[in-house]
Amino acid sequence: MTGGATGIGAALKEQLRERGDTVIVVDIRDADVHADLSTAEGRSAAIAGVRAMAPEGLDGLIACAGLGTHVKPPSLIAAVNYFGAVATIEGLRDLVAERRGSVLIVSSNSAPMMDADNAFVEACLAGDESAALALLEDGHTAYAGSKRALTQWMRRHVQDYAGAGVRINAVAPGITRTNMTDAVSKDPELGDAIRQFEAMTPLGGSAEPAQIANAMRFLLGDDADFICGAVLFVDGGTDALMRADSF
Ligand code: NAD
Repeated sequence: MTGGATGIGAALKEQLRERGDTVIVVDIRDADVHADLSTAEGRSAAIAGVRAMAPEGLDGLIACAGLGTHVKPPSLIAAVNYFGAVATIEGLRDLVAERRGSVLIVSSNSAPMMDADNAFVEACLAGDESAALALLEDGHTAYAGSKRALTQWMRRHVQDYAGAGVRINAVAPGITRTNMTDAVSKDPELGDAIRQFEAMTPLGGSAEPAQIANAMRFLLGDDADFICGAVLFVDGGTDALMRADSF
């Protein structure tokens, strides 16, 4: 998994290790494989590091590393959240296929807030990193746009991955109490928006990382063995609230 050092990734890592799984964490800190997924060199190091540790293949691959809306410059958000995730998944896909495993991306309930025909989203899906990053001026487009693009990338690759014996799915968390949301809530421009969002959540408030990890464990495991291309919102009902008639 990428992004297993803190937050949602750390909660999933703990649950998986507790039940006896071997988990390889790729992260910029506190990792088995130290790598900066915002750079081409870091992505190559991540792929080489995992290959060295799991030559027999992977039962699961979780692209969880991500940066929040508050991070500057916005291009860094997209470099990690979209391009880092896609590069890692593509670079390790054969190891997952070897064990007929499953891939899980971490989307967000903010993904549907960005239009599919947004120029940044289209540049991401075209695989043009320099054009995509050059289009970015604000954190919201970078964050919601990279989650929208990553989710569409997942949906577009269902057939291809399934043909190789690999299930691919997404979890789409709502606001979850992690370092990321802590930083966003302290941001003078974004803090109020996150508090308003929490206040309107149908189930009330925000999630604990373990609640997101529970859904991730389900999607990764054999109980979900006919689920492919799904986007599972774990958001206290906010996606349904915002777009009840779209699914
Ligand atoms: P977090 O900050 O606790 O975790 C992010 C992880 O990504 C950390 O371990 C961090 O070290 C790692 N990371 C950051 N930059 C990296 C880089 N350049 N290279 C490698 N690793 C890097 O935040 P979180 O909330 O647990 O986020 C996990 C995922 O969940 C992210 O993809 C995030 O977008 C998504 N998400 C979070 C929320 C939320 O409310 N917390 C909501 C929807 C989606």
